[in-house]
Amino acid sequence: MGKLLEVNDLEVSFKVHGGEVKAVRGVKFHVNKGETIGIVGESGCGKSVTAQTIMRLIPQPPARIKNGSIMFNGEDLLKKTEREMQKVRGKEIGMIFQDPMTSLNPTMTVGAQIMEPLIKHQNLSRKEATKRAVEMLDLVGMPNPEKRIKQYPHQFSGGMRQRAMIAIALACDPSLLIADEPTTALDVTIQAQILNVMKDLQKRLNTSIIMITHDLGVVAEVCDRVVVMYAGKVVEEGTVQEIFKNPQHPYTKGLLKSVPSLDQDKDKPLVPIYGTPPDLFSPPPGCAFCDRCDYAMNICNKQDADKYHVSDTQYARCWLLDPVAQEVRSK
Ligand code: SF4
Repeated sequence: MGKLLEVNDLEVSFKVHGGEVKAVRGVKFHVNKGETIGIVGESGCGKSVTAQTIMRLIPQPPARIKNGSIMFNGEDLLKKTEREMQKVRGKEIGMIFQDPMTSLNPTMTVGAQIMEPLIKHQNLSRKEATKRAVEMLDLVGMPNPEKRIKQYPHQFSGGMRQRAMIAIALACDPSLLIADEPTTALDVTIQAQILNVMKDLQKRLNTSIIMITHDLGVVAEVCDRVVVMYAGKVVEEGTVQEIFKNPQHPYTKGLLKSVPSLDQDKDKPLVPIYGTPPDLFSPPPGCAFCDRCDYAMNICNKQDADKYHVSDTQYARCWLLDPVAQEVRSK
C-alpha cells in the first residue's frame, strides 16, 4: 500500500490578543492508499486544525503555518496557490463537517450542491451532472433520490443532511475524504447508519479516509490505524488492534478507561482523566500530559520523550518506554 498523504513536522499557531496559541506542534503521520485512519483526542488537541490545514481552509491570519509539509500524491499542499488548492478541494480531497446544517447552503437545492463540483471540476453538462447527483444520493442510501435532489436542506432530517454531505464530498470521486466529527451531531441509530454508509463507500470506491473524532467507538468501528493527539502533538500511533489491546501512552490508556462498554461491570465506575490540558500559549517544555499523569517522573516535566517503537506499526512518546525506566520498574 503506497502513501497517499504524508504530514511532516506540521506546526500551526494562532496569533490572538495576548500572545500565540501553539495549536499544532510538530505533527507527523501518513495515510496509505485505501486505508482509514482515525485522529483522536479531546477538544483543543489540534486534530481539527490539522484537518483544516490539510485542506488549507485555516484562516490566515489569525493562523500561521510555521513549519512542515503536507505531501499529497507527491506534491506539497502548503506550496500550492489558492487557485491550485481550489482544484484539489472537492476533486481530489473531499471533506465532511460535523454539522451538515451549517455546511450545506440553505439557499440551494441539495441536487444543485452535488452538481456544482461535477460541473466545475469534471466539466459535466447539467444533464450528466443531474444523473450523477441522483446516483450519488442513491449510493449514500437516500430514499427517492430523484425527488430529493430538488429539495432544500431544511426539508431533510439530520441523518439525511449528513448523507447529502457525504454525497457532495464524494461526487468527484476524491482519493481522500476528511471527515471531521461526522456523526457527533447525530443520534446513535443515525450515527450507526452513517458509519455503515462510509464503510460501504470506502470499500466500493477505495477512498482513503481521515476520521477526526473524540469517539473511540467510531474509531473501533471504521478505522485501520489510529493517531492519538494531545496538546497539539501526536503522542501515540498504532493499528486499531494495537491501540485498543495494547495501548502504551498513559493518555491513550486514560481515554480507553473513560469510555463505557456494554460488557462493563455496572458497579465499576468509569475512570475519568482528571485535570485539564496545558495552556498552549506557553506549552510545558516536557511532556504535556505530565500534570495529569499518575506515572510522571522527574524527567517528564523537563524534556519531552522521543518516539519509542513497540512494533513496526506502533509507537508512543512516553518516558516509561525508555529502556532505563523499564529497568527501574522491573527491579
Ligand atoms: Fe506520563 Fe512521563 Fe509518560 Fe508523560 S512521559 S505520559 S508524564 S510517564
